[in-house]
Parts: sequence; structure tokens; C-alpha cells
Amino acid sequence: MTTATDAAALKGRVAGAIADARATVVELSHDLHAHPELAMQERHAHDLLADTLEQAGFAVTRHAHDVETAFRAEIGTGAGPQVVVCAEYDALPGIGHACGHNLIGASSVGAGLSLAGLVDDLGVGLCVLGTPAEEAVGGKAILVERGAFSRADVALMVHPAPLDIREAPALAVNDLVVTVHGKAAHASLSRSRRANALEGLVEVYRLLSAHPLGDWERCHGVITHGGDAPNVVPERTEGHWLVRARTDVDAATLAAMLRDEIETTLADSGCTVEFTSAMEVYREMKHNHVLAGAYQANAEALGREFVPQALIGPESASSTDMGNVSQVVPSIHPMIGIDSLPALNHQRGFADAAVSAAADTAVHDAAYAIAATVVDLAVDSDLMAAVRADFERTDSVGDPLER
Ligand SMILES: [Zn+2]
Ligand SMILES: [Zn+2]
Repeated sequence: MTTATDAAALKGRVAGAIADARATVVELSHDLHAHPELAMQERHAHDLLADTLEQAGFAVTRHAHDVETAFRAEIGTGAGPQVVVCAEYDALPGIGHACGHNLIGASSVGAGLSLAGLVDDLGVGLCVLGTPAEEAVGGKAILVERGAFSRADVALMVHPAPLDIREAPALAVNDLVVTVHGKAAHASLSRSRRANALEGLVEVYRLLSAHPLGDWERCHGVITHGGDAPNVVPERTEGHWLVRARTDVDAATLAAMLRDEIETTLADSGCTVEFTSAMEVYREMKHNHVLAGAYQANAEALGREFVPQALIGPESASSTDMGNVSQVVPSIHPMIGIDSLPALNHQRGFADAAVSAAADTAVHDAAYAIAATVVDLAVDSDLMAAVRADFERTDSVGDPLER
């Protein structure tokens, strides 16, 4: 049986290894930031991170699970906990790394680098999984369906945010691609507004942006195609909306209700409407409270301070495809602060903050806290059992207000 002293010694080795790797890991973060790539096009990030892990002794499968920009980097054949650390690296259109996924890729690889020399002593199997397309498409949803987590006992990652938060609520998402079909006409000869696909889509936009929603619900979108020429009445227009709610069922129900209301709105417009989808369903995040607690303790040991969980409410809710992972494997998705305020995620100021000195420290601290949590799991079989027991709880939606 491993003792607490052993755990402290092992964490000391992790700390030494991450200190040695710090320059490399920070360089990875800055390199990713300087090469922002959109969902499923992250070829530079894929090669950069896969090469780094291969050079450190990992067995690397490129283009894993038939996803061009996914990879698996594996090390350790122990019979202890099988650990997946998720590395995100996609950016946003127009605003680059304004969600700071460069930190996620770098810190997850950093965790891998710092554990590489310990996996045999720990008896764990470690996979750093390159998970593309979090901001669109839903790369992890596809990877879950293709068995990427089938052997995993736990899945971990850390996401940058203005402040450290153990469990930020992540809502389920359904998307609606709304295509409105009208009738092409000469815009001067035909002065009727009927069968004008742009008029129809603007009505849809108004309906959805003014729709009453609960605290835990969201509906927001953009017009992606508004027509082709000002002198032609548009015959086809399109918009893309995300519909979010607290649970998978609530999101699906809300999306269905909105589809009905859109059809009613357009019933007398002379237009027809078609609904499709452009991304996977993102499931609600089932935070593993036990594993998240272990992560928090390791991050606090570095002097990091967390927002009290009781202060985390619906205003802190976003979504992540890590939700899909969390429904099949005990998972954590804590936020690590990069001192970006007043800038929040998806703002230009956040992209700037994602390569600040505070961000570089966050990359180091996240890498350490992930790796130290893996040490805890490896040396303490009671912890692994408690993680599994928490995963079996049936109230899949943890109410952060009560914790
Ligand atoms: Zn984002
Ligand atoms: Zn993000």
C-alpha cells in the first residue's frame, strides 16, 4: 500500500518534471496561439503536439479514430487507473484563440510530459487525447461514439477562464440550422414582401431573440446566408442557432418547441422552412465532484484561489463537448484563471490574455494539478472507488448552488 509520504514524493517528482518542461510547454501555448485554426482544420496543432509527445516517448497514433486532426499519445501499461487527458486546440473564426484553447493543448501535453517518467511507478495507463473541434462540430462527441474513451477510468482537462472555478455549469446544446425557402423575383418589379426568404428569416431572428427563456436556457444565433444580390428577392436564406438548457432532455424539448413556433411564424409568409443540424448534440456536463475536489486541492497547493462554488450560478453557464465525455466516464472540466478581467471568453481581450504572464503560469499550474491528480488516483484506491461511486449518482445535473 502506498503511503501519503509516497504521494508527496511522487508529486515532488511531478513538480520537478513540469519545472523542467515549463519552457517547452509555454512555447507550445504561444505557438498554438500564433497559429489559430478552426474546428477540424487544426493540422498545425495536431502535428505540433503529436510530435512533442512522440519525442517524449509516447506511442502516437495520428489522425486517430478516423478524425484527421485527432491523435492519441499513449504511455504506460499498468493495470491501475486508465487516464485520458483531453487536449483541445481549436480557435474561433475572426477572433483567434479568444477561448484560450492554446492553454488547454499546452497544459494537457504538459501534464503528459510531467507524468511520462512516472507512469510505470504509478502503474497507470496514460493517454493524451488530441480532441479537435470543441467550438463547432463537437469533436469529443464523435470521439466518444468511436470508442476513444472505452478503456478510460477517468478523463481530465482544464479550461482557461477569468477566474479559477471548480465546477462551472455546462449546459446541453442542440443546434438549429434554419433554411428559409422563398421565391426568386425581380426586386423592383415584384414589390410584395411575400415569399421573400430574407423577410422570413428576419422574422425567425426576431422570434428567437425575443423569446422568453429561463435562467438556465439560451437561444442565440446568426444569419449565415442572407441572399445573393440586392436586386433579386432572395429565394433561400439560412441562419444557425444554438439552443441550450440545463439537461439533455430540456435542450431537446426547447429546440422542438422553437421549431414549432418558427413554423407557425412563417405559416402565412409564402415561405417554407427546413431544419437541419451542423453539429453534434453537446450533452450536459456531469462534473465528478470527487475528482474535481482532488484537482482543486492540488491547484490550491500551488496557491491558486477558487471562486466559492456557492457563488456559481446560471450566469457562469456555457457548454462543452466534454459534457458528452462526462456522461460515459468520470470527468472534470475545471476553469483556471488567467487574470483576464474585464475580458471574458470569446472577447478580443481574452485572446490577448491567453498569452499573458498569468496565462503562462496557468499553463504550468494546470499541467501540474492534472498530473498531481493522476498521482492521487494511482496511489489511493479509495479515491478511485469514490470517483466511481460519484459517477454512479443519478442526479446527473449537479446543482452548483448547493455545493
Ligand atoms: Zn469557447
Ligand atoms: Zn473553450
